[in-house]
Amino acid sequence: MNIPLAQPQITSQDRQAVLKVLKTKQLSLGPKLVEFEKKMADYIGVKYAIAVSSGTAGLHLIIRALDLKKDDEVITTPFSFIASSNCLLYEQVKPVFIDIDPRDLNIDIAKIESAITPKTKAILAVDIFGQPARWLKLRQIAAKHHLALIEDSAEALGTEYQNKKCGGLGDAGVFAFYPNKQITTGEGGMVVTNNKKIAELCRGLRNQGRGTSHWLKHQHLGYNYRLSELNCALGISQLSRIDQIVLRRQKIATTYNQLLKNIPGIILPNVASTNKISWFVYVVQIKNRDQIMARLKQQGVQCNNYFPVIHLIPFYQKMFGYKKGDFPVAETISQKTLALPFFNQITQAQIKYVVQQLLSVIARTPHF
Ligand SMILES: *Cc1c(COP(=O)(O)O)cnc(C)c1O
Repeated sequence: MNIPLAQPQITSQDRQAVLKVLKTKQLSLGPKLVEFEKKMADYIGVKYAIAVSSGTAGLHLIIRALDLKKDDEVITTPFSFIASSNCLLYEQVKPVFIDIDPRDLNIDIAKIESAITPKTKAILAVDIFGQPARWLKLRQIAAKHHLALIEDSAEALGTEYQNKKCGGLGDAGVFAFYPNKQITTGEGGMVVTNNKKIAELCRGLRNQGRGTSHWLKHQHLGYNYRLSELNCALGISQLSRIDQIVLRRQKIATTYNQLLKNIPGIILPNVASTNKISWFVYVVQIKNRDQIMARLKQQGVQCNNYFPVIHLIPFYQKMFGYKKGDFPVAETISQKTLALPFFNQITQAQIKYVVQQLLSVIARTPHF
């Protein structure tokens, strides 16, 4: 058996939707873009959605739209996919990492205020693995210190925090549609916001800095971060199944929870009862992670160490002087996290195989 870590689910409805666009003459900036944006805005419950070429591009546009610049500081988490802080580096903005909360693996709200300086302009929190950060408190801190609040919801499409959809909980949020996310457009992303100014700036900047009125009127230094009609059509089709997808992934997570409970040495994901999670990946914490990961792969169970902490990535250390021991909670946890195969079409038999192999690898691991 070889079980992938992730896999996109492409239905015949998805294929039909893309083929239909190919038969038209409009492959970019057409009706599918408008429709995808409208449906995403409605689903998240925000006024504006701006489709872009990737989640990373969306984050970059938000940094630009908030006018963050060289030497500004943004408080963020070191336990994330690297894009959530790379977007700051594109504009020479300094990421100020703070440690995470071991309960949800998100930014530790108790440690934010002591990191705020006169240079701090924003907080960028991530809903890691689909688990919402503590948005109520984040909003209070941001308001008190007049900081912008950015939500990286790239892993959390469909997650609800106190009955509100993630993505729309800060001043601007972003989703990503790489093939391992809850829905995919191949490559793609979406900025969501209730702020008209941020929306207009992002819309212009994604299209070479054009204003809305004239094709050759470039008001700002912009980019080509557009999303083609093909990608948008795929996104619309995928989004139409989002409720099913969230349910299916919930079921897979529950199955893993049941099969892995009460096994000494394994910590299962912790979900607060006030939240409804849209699962991105299923990540356990486990002793001897690297050894176990290598042996699982030998048995055809693909898995990965989501995520190495960002502050210890060599070029981050070199640029900002971060060192081992700076964020002990994140560092300790990131040595233990192991993402197991997790995708919509995974079968019961495949899940059982993963668990069986995991248990047999553990049994053969000395000092577990
Ligand atoms: C996937 C991801 C991104 C980036 O999305 P891309 O579409 O791959 O650029 C950003 N932040 C987090 C937390 C992610 O998981």
